[in-house]
Amino acid sequence: MMSDSIDRQRVPEPLESLSSTDLYIDGEWVPASGATTLETIDPATEKPIASVAAAQADDVDTAVAAARRAFSDWRDVDPAERGRIVHRIGRLIRDHCDELAALESLDQGKPLSQARSDIIGAAEYFEYYAGAADKLEGRSIPVGPDGVDYTVREPYGVSAQIIPWNFPANIFARGVAPALVAGNATVVKPAEQTPLSALRLAELCTEAGVPDGVVNVVPGYGEPAGQALAEHEDVDQVTFTGSVPTGQRIMETAAETVTPVTLELGGKNPAIVFPDADLEAAAESIATGIFTNAGQICSAADRVVVHESVRDELVDELVDHAASLSIGPGRNDPDVGPVVSADHLEKVTSYIEAGTDGGASVETGGEALDRDGYFVEPTIFTDVDPEMQIAREEIFGPVLSVLTFGDEADAIELANDSEYGLTAGVFTADISRAHRLVRELEAGNVYVNQWFGDMNRTPFGGYKHSGIGREKGIEALDSYLQTKNVAIDLE
Ligand code: NAP
Ligand code: MG
Repeated sequence: MMSDSIDRQRVPEPLESLSSTDLYIDGEWVPASGATTLETIDPATEKPIASVAAAQADDVDTAVAAARRAFSDWRDVDPAERGRIVHRIGRLIRDHCDELAALESLDQGKPLSQARSDIIGAAEYFEYYAGAADKLEGRSIPVGPDGVDYTVREPYGVSAQIIPWNFPANIFARGVAPALVAGNATVVKPAEQTPLSALRLAELCTEAGVPDGVVNVVPGYGEPAGQALAEHEDVDQVTFTGSVPTGQRIMETAAETVTPVTLELGGKNPAIVFPDADLEAAAESIATGIFTNAGQICSAADRVVVHESVRDELVDELVDHAASLSIGPGRNDPDVGPVVSADHLEKVTSYIEAGTDGGASVETGGEALDRDGYFVEPTIFTDVDPEMQIAREEIFGPVLSVLTFGDEADAIELANDSEYGLTAGVFTADISRAHRLVRELEAGNVYVNQWFGDMNRTPFGGYKHSGIGREKGIEALDSYLQTKNVAIDLE
């Protein structure tokens, strides 16, 4: 049964799959306190898709209480059984891939095939972590004949997941899968711009056999819903992905209750191109790195740092790529969809203006499209000074800044001259040089002769202001487990 709040006249197919747009707490759909709602907008048309319950602080309280109650049984489920349940979530996501992708594309704006790959990636998180459920072993530590000492890895309890709008379903899975496998219960707050896929995923978790209360979803605004979650006394761990200022705020808030946080806060990621690189291949990787998801990716290749001798050739290749990309509504599966919201379009275009005003040259693009929807052309800037805003700040749109270097030391200095340190790429045919740079680059993820080299099984996270802790891979489980050391006197 679809919620009455959905306007049936405008309902595209994807919404048929969604039972409700209320809050999902303790396995039930419930309206927000005071029946407060928010409108989620189709960024390709600027039209409302649905009104969705907007959680208030007391709804967050109810969700956290449900998670707390559910936790005590969930942690006691045989780990192998927990693994089977989590694996079933992955299978159900695969079974419902087209429907979830359509929902994600509608709500977020991304091209359908990119949404599909996000959804398959989401399924893979559940499948990957499911296999770890019965392998979360402790250690035994030799203390001599008179004692026994061993460690146990225990779940924290209630894990809060505060999700951004760029990969709503995929980042839900990235956090919820390891949290569940480790035996935690979760309360998820999706971004106000993109609440829909999380609601559907919560329902699939229940269908897979996750007990009521173990996965709760409370759409709402950062204030009050996100804030209430971050400061809740009964939340034991917070995972956040988003901007640096909000991440700092969450860390301050969590300090009050001494709650551990995992933060993934974006980047300004350099792609360093040496003259000996295969320039055509480098340009292709970089174009994928900056224009996928309309550039709204924390690990996007948003800064090219290229040797001056090959700058023109590389820029020509990049411009050819950018100019060949199709732009349109996600449902038509173009190369580039709209950006997520009117506010975000405004932010991206104001960076483009700042670049032009500052004296950088637009090689291609540079304009928002004169049509409904939040479309902006793939844009490439050259003559970018390292001090310009477009060289330093995360634009989070399809906007690439090209800087040049003279020698290797220069390249490293330019690449590291950033408050961020999430990803970096090196394009070169010289394996020794590649390894030298891998060592020097201040980034949690370094790609060599490719971009987006990470997979579900590889650890991902930032140096410097790009974050704390690691997501993905086995390492992510460390965020969801605390160590208990047991010391026994045998005398
Ligand atoms: P944001 O404020 O960091 O939002 C991320 C999440 O945090 C959303 O769910 C947001 O809720 C929530 N939130 C906001 N204030 C909060 C608070 N005081 N306590 C707890 N949670 C809170 O990011 P944004 O404003 O959507 O985007 C701004 C910029 O952040 C982007 O332009 C981009 O540069 C960067 N960003 C980075 C990533 C990444 O992957 N690292 C992802 C998205 C954005 P609401 O959305 O409901 O307000
Ligand atoms: Mg939306």
